[in-house]
Amino acid sequence: MSHKNKSIIFIILIVFISVLSVMFVVPIKTVETRNYMDTFVTISVDSTLFNKKNVDKAIDKAFSEIERIENVLSFYNEDGIIYALNTNGYLTKEKVTPELEYLIKKSVYYSDVSGGAFDVTIHPILNLWKEGLWTEDSERQNRVIKDELSRIGYKKILIDDNGIFLDGVKIDLGGIAKGYAADRALKILKDEGFDKALVNIGGDMVAGDGVWKIVLSDPDDLDNYITSFNISNKAVATSGNYERYFDPSKKIHHIIDPRTGYPASECISVTIIADKGIDADALATSVFVLGPEEGLNLVNSLDNVDALIIDDDRNIYRSNNLSKFEDLQFHSNA
Ligand code: AMP
Ligand code: MG
Repeated sequence: MSHKNKSIIFIILIVFISVLSVMFVVPIKTVETRNYMDTFVTISVDSTLFNKKNVDKAIDKAFSEIERIENVLSFYNEDGIIYALNTNGYLTKEKVTPELEYLIKKSVYYSDVSGGAFDVTIHPILNLWKEGLWTEDSERQNRVIKDELSRIGYKKILIDDNGIFLDGVKIDLGGIAKGYAADRALKILKDEGFDKALVNIGGDMVAGDGVWKIVLSDPDDLDNYITSFNISNKAVATSGNYERYFDPSKKIHHIIDPRTGYPASECISVTIIADKGIDADALATSVFVLGPEEGLNLVNSLDNVDALIIDDDRNIYRSNNLSKFEDLQFHSNA
């Protein structure tokens, strides 16, 4: 073989190997954002170019699952199971899906451990504030809230072998559903063969394999950050009062303290790290209501749960083992 031919074969070989390594070895990240559950949902998957087509299919499947969960669990969707339960006041055993049972039992569990700070029957009170109770004088507010408080309460959810019975209350899974949906979406991505993935539903994130850096924005300046966490096969959920206000003075927001009927006022942001999104989500809402001291006690009493809490005066509280996840080089002075 001539020297020239040898060189050509060598170049072809190099090009071939390069193409193969780009296809099979060089990692690519696929990121897609859509709108579900009243917020932005972003799915990120690490893969190689070779299985890019399958990644797109898996992401589609994961989004479809989130859409399904939104429809099934929505407070307002007339075709959903929550709507049926709330309208009839009960569901017989045959009608109760394992998914609904799981979510309601989790909700009641977090109501119990949080001493009632987490309460999925809170919706009528949230609605009163949303519809303008904040414009009324405080005497009327007190009266209306007291009256409504006497009608709600998670203890009026009865779940047993006969099914689910609601004693005059309605269920709103808004404080737990996003974390659950993120768990399910990640499970689907993993089942499709993509373990290195992150699902983010409006700040409730569930991470698979690999190390994922989660940046916690400064609630007073969303372009800035408080800290960051490195997580792998964990969930991170944040509840904040800086996103959804009903009044111009930004006091009335969407997380209600069921013990008082007023919007929870001690925290501005609570981030929870837990094994699953469902737990991180429910706990973020619970701790937001409990406030920093009680909230931190609860978090420190639970296994594999950590928290970063920012109170109304911008003090930052960290749970005992948060440093396992926190990227200290990334600290700001906030
Ligand atoms: P999150 O953003 O996860 O903290 O959830 C906030 C949502 O949970 C609200 O929009 C309500 O639907 C619902 N919610 C508000 N207050 C509570 C509460 N004390 N317990 C359970 N769910 C709540
Ligand atoms: Mg929550």
